[in-house]
Amino acid sequence: MVGWYDGAEVLVANAGALCYDTVQVAHDDETLIPNKIGQRISLHCRDSHHNTVIEHGSATFVKKVPIFVARQDLRARLASFDERSLRYCRAADGGLTYYVPNYLEMSYISRVMDKDPERAGFLLGMRQEWIDDHERAIYRYSKYTDEELNDFWDSLDLNPERIRETMRARLPVGINTVYMDTRNLWSWIHHAEKRLCLRAQDEIRRIRRQETHQLKKVFPTIFGDVNMPCYMASGCPEKKKCGLIELDESGKWALPFYKKSIST
Ligand SMILES: Cc1cc2nc3c(=O)[nH]c(=O)nc-3n(C[C@H](O)[C@H](O)[C@H](O)COP(=O)(O)OP(=O)(O)OC[C@H]3O[C@@H](n4cnc5c(N)ncnc54)[C@H](O)[C@@H]3O)c2cc1C
Repeated sequence: MVGWYDGAEVLVANAGALCYDTVQVAHDDETLIPNKIGQRISLHCRDSHHNTVIEHGSATFVKKVPIFVARQDLRARLASFDERSLRYCRAADGGLTYYVPNYLEMSYISRVMDKDPERAGFLLGMRQEWIDDHERAIYRYSKYTDEELNDFWDSLDLNPERIRETMRARLPVGINTVYMDTRNLWSWIHHAEKRLCLRAQDEIRRIRRQETHQLKKVFPTIFGDVNMPCYMASGCPEKKKCGLIELDESGKWALPFYKKSIST
C-alpha cells in the first residue's frame, strides 16, 4: 500500500453521523474504539450496505503481478489504474520478469522427487519448457526493441514506438506487469470478499489476502473482520462450494474440514 489518508476512518464515521443527525462524532481516533459511537455508526453503515459512507476513504496499492492475474484485477470498474506502458517504456535488460507457478518451483519438484522420481521428471520437463518460452519471448522482444536499431527503423520510415507497441504482443501472459490501483474503501471490501473465496484462482486470492492484511492494519475498524464471503455472509453464497470450509452452528466461524474431521 503506497497511499492512504490516516483520518479516513474518522471521516467515514462523521459521514454516517451527518446522515442520521447523530451528534457529530469527534475528529479523533477516540471515537473509533470498540462500542464508541464512531465505530458503531461505521459498522452499521458498512453492514447495512450504506456504501457511500464507506466510500469517503480510499487506499492505493502498487502491484507487480503476471499479466494473466492483472487481467482479472483490472476488470474492476470502481477503481483507478495506471499501468507501466511497454509502448513508451522499453524494458531494459532485466526489466522484464516472469512468473513461475508453485508446482513448477524447484522446492515443490524436489519434494515430489523424494516420493516419485518419474512424475518429478515430467514436472522438470514442464518447468524447463515454461522457462524456455518466457526467456525466448523476452530475448526476442528485447532484440527488436533495442535502441541500437532505432536508426534502422528510421531508415525504413518506421517509428521505434510502432515496433515496441507491436513487439509486446510476443510476450506471454506470464510476464509481470506493474500498475497503481486506487479504490475507495467500499470497493476494496467488495473485491476482497469476492476474491478471498477459496474458489478464486490461487494467485489473485493471494494478492487479495495481502491487500486485506495491509488494509486491516491501516483501517482496523472498517476492515477488522473482512474475510472470505462465507464468513461475511454467514454462509456460502456460491453455487459450486469449495468443500473445504464449514460454518459452525453460530454461523459466524468457519472451520476447515480437516479440523472438523480430527475432532469427530
Ligand atoms: C468468481 C468470478 C468469476 C469470474 N469469471 C469471469 C469470466 O469468466 N469472464 C469474465 O469476463 N469475467 C469474469 N469475472 C469478472 C467479473 O465479471 C467482474 O468483471 C469483476 O469481478 C468485477 O466485479 P464487479 O463488477 O462487481 O466490480 P466493479 O466493476 O468494480 O463494480 C463494482 C460494483 O459497482 C456496480 N456497477 C459497476 N458498473 C456497473 C454497471 N455498468 N451497471 C450496474 N452496476 C454496476 C455493481 O454493483 C458492481 O458490483 C469473474 C469474477 C469472479 C469473482
